[in-house]
Amino acid sequence: MLEQLKKIFSGTEEEMPTNTGSKPDISREKSAELYEKSKTYFPGGVNSPVRAFKSVYGIPLFIQKGDGCYIWDADGNQFIDFCASWGPLILGHNNAKIREKVIEVMQNGMSFGAPTALENELAELIIKNNSYVEKIRFTSSGTEAVMSAIRLARGYTGKDKIIKFEGCYHGHSDSLLVKAGSGLVTFGETSSAGVPKSFADETIVIPLNDKNAISEAFAQFKDQIAAVIIEGIPANNGLLLQDQDYIEFLRAACTENNALLIFDEVITGFRVGFEGAAAHYGIKPDIVTYGKIIGGGLPVGMYGASAEIMGHISPDGGVYQAGTLSGNPVAMAAGIATLTELLRSGFYKDLNQKTKEFVDSIQRFATAKNYKFKVFTVGSIFWFAFTDKDIKTAEDIDPTSMDKFKVLHRELLNRGIYLGPSGYEVGFVSAAHTKIELEKTKRAIFDALDLVFRKG
Ligand SMILES: *Cc1c(COP(=O)(O)O)cnc(C)c1O
Repeated sequence: MLEQLKKIFSGTEEEMPTNTGSKPDISREKSAELYEKSKTYFPGGVNSPVRAFKSVYGIPLFIQKGDGCYIWDADGNQFIDFCASWGPLILGHNNAKIREKVIEVMQNGMSFGAPTALENELAELIIKNNSYVEKIRFTSSGTEAVMSAIRLARGYTGKDKIIKFEGCYHGHSDSLLVKAGSGLVTFGETSSAGVPKSFADETIVIPLNDKNAISEAFAQFKDQIAAVIIEGIPANNGLLLQDQDYIEFLRAACTENNALLIFDEVITGFRVGFEGAAAHYGIKPDIVTYGKIIGGGLPVGMYGASAEIMGHISPDGGVYQAGTLSGNPVAMAAGIATLTELLRSGFYKDLNQKTKEFVDSIQRFATAKNYKFKVFTVGSIFWFAFTDKDIKTAEDIDPTSMDKFKVLHRELLNRGIYLGPSGYEVGFVSAAHTKIELEKTKRAIFDALDLVFRKG
């Protein structure tokens, strides 16, 4: 996601180099036709930049249908999918329980702009099973949830500045489209045209995995920090696993400085466990944001906190936040059906175990062959990195290693495996991936890695 920001401005569209692999390239004729048309309608031919395949070879595949862990593109190519619509589809594509619940609810109309019992139902599923939120508010996207959480933190504390981390993505609201300048503790520099510098000046950007940077930022901007926002487990710019100890330090620093700690759990919420990264660490953030899985494939976001903090949201309090389609009944239905499945006993144990076996055997293969390749993983999230180092910050990632990812991506497509189209993106295993597909995927990855490293 961060990388897509860079790429979209450089606008590179590379030619596919000659195929020297052992499999022919998949046909993209129909996708190419659709892409030619879509380019006349949408900037870059897409409605979200990373979909344009700028960081991998070839044109984007237009997807026609999905079922279980499979997707099919417009040319009829079939893939085992690990992109999972960027995370939401923890139950796989076209899950029957979600589909049936959605259709049932749709029979009664699709939006009222008035409260419905379905909102209560989804809220109850969340609040009863989550020790980190007492009151919540539904939005229609993760971006909205995070943007609102920041406003709430500012309204609650009466302070303006926020701290974010280089390597974390929090959606595309103005104050979060910022990146680090040079230096340990810096005002953000805008990472998108159209974001006023004065907005970016309210956002301090520091590196991950650096306690000093946290202390320095709080010292330098004493009594000005409303909140620190971090991805529960940073998973948008590689998978940057942080030490428990570091997150504890961050929690304590926020408390000490009367700043709120916001866990952006739009990816990790309901993914690494029902209660997300907060429960993974056993650390209580002051505000949590969710998205992706919570809507089961339909547009839902959410932010939540203690009843006391949430009491500052309008109409109870002075922080305004609203949405025409917030709590939309059809979207709520998808969320209810999804979360009900996730609450079944053993759901995460099975999913995480399956993922662990999958990634462990890939790592064993790479290690045995002395390939400079590491799989980072937590829960059912994995990230392939062409490195032999431990990677904990955005800086640790070698951009030139992405050339290898491009080859891997192409070879995997040619073997019926679909990964997100950028080496900075993580992959997701879903409940719909069975041992059979994971076995097939492993073999494809082994072949593809052999080719990547044969090429040097
Ligand atoms: C995806 C994501 C967002 C943005 O959510 P959208 O639904 O795309 O607006 C925000 N934060 C994190 C951590 C995300 O992964």
